[in-house]
Amino acid sequence: MLLPRGGMAAIVGRIASDLGPALRLESPVVRIEDGSGETPAVVHTAAGQALRGAEVSLALRAPAQASLLADSHAATAAALRAVGYVPMVVIAVGFRREDAPAIPAGFGFLRGRGCAARILGATFNSQLNPATAPEGCELLTAFLGGSEDPAALDLDDSAVRDIVLGDLAAALGGAVRPAMVHIARHAQAIPLFSPGHRGRMAAANAALSGARLRLLGSHVTGVSLNDCCRPAAPLAGPLPAGLTRL
Ligand SMILES: Cc1cc2nc3c(=O)[nH]c(=O)nc-3n(C[C@H](O)[C@H](O)[C@H](O)COP(=O)(O)OP(=O)(O)OC[C@H]3O[C@@H](n4cnc5c(N)ncnc54)[C@H](O)[C@@H]3O)c2cc1C
Repeated sequence: MLLPRGGMAAIVGRIASDLGPALRLESPVVRIEDGSGETPAVVHTAAGQALRGAEVSLALRAPAQASLLADSHAATAAALRAVGYVPMVVIAVGFRREDAPAIPAGFGFLRGRGCAARILGATFNSQLNPATAPEGCELLTAFLGGSEDPAALDLDDSAVRDIVLGDLAAALGGAVRPAMVHIARHAQAIPLFSPGHRGRMAAANAALSGARLRLLGSHVTGVSLNDCCRPAAPLAGPLPAGLTRL
């Protein structure tokens, strides 16, 4: 397992600092003009910028790609609109060690089939990386939802909290009295790779190649962060002297 020093936010922070002023936040893409031959593609943002690119990589979720391509590439947009996603509620639970049973050293646990728990499982973040919790404290992340429990997305905060603390108590063998509970809801958390999905995404990309556009994102590359990042290396071009591509 790979754990970035400083947590996942360190990856985003490093990319942002390397990009510097080239990074434009709060300016979503609202329209794309196809390129062709010697003509670059043009990306229009809500902030009124027009950015030209020899090649444009669209690393958005499938529904956002579909709406940008709806007018110019209707068949590709339809294939993207058909990509399904499962919803997920992600719950971070922080507590002092004396306020819970001892957390086993390890990654965490996944719920088995037929188990009475509603959470899908939990990761033991501070066991994997002590820097994720203050001294004397633990941080766990629990997950609710998925394809078999989409209604979890509609639960209010207090219901989510009750379910998570109840299931954690059962799994750990004693009550957890949290100092902090943080709940994040993701309606489109993880794309579904239904039969034929990879072929449909490859065909969608092939249909765009003449327009100087490329589809990326977890529904195209694969879901893990490694899979999402892998296509970046060949796109980035030659590395500066002294650096090695891993
Ligand atoms: C709960 C959960 C746990 C996970 N755990 C792990 C794990 O432990 N290890 C692992 O490897 N992977 C994990 N994953 C998977 C991984 O995090 C995701 O697959 C990956 O982050 C998806 O990246 P992405 O770039 O495809 O999509 P996103 O991260 O969704 O990026 C798409 C971006 O496009 C932006 N956008 C949308 N519309 C526009 C527009 N019009 N103009 C400009 N920008 C726009 C959005 O704001 C967003 O920032 C997890 C995923 C979930 C949901």
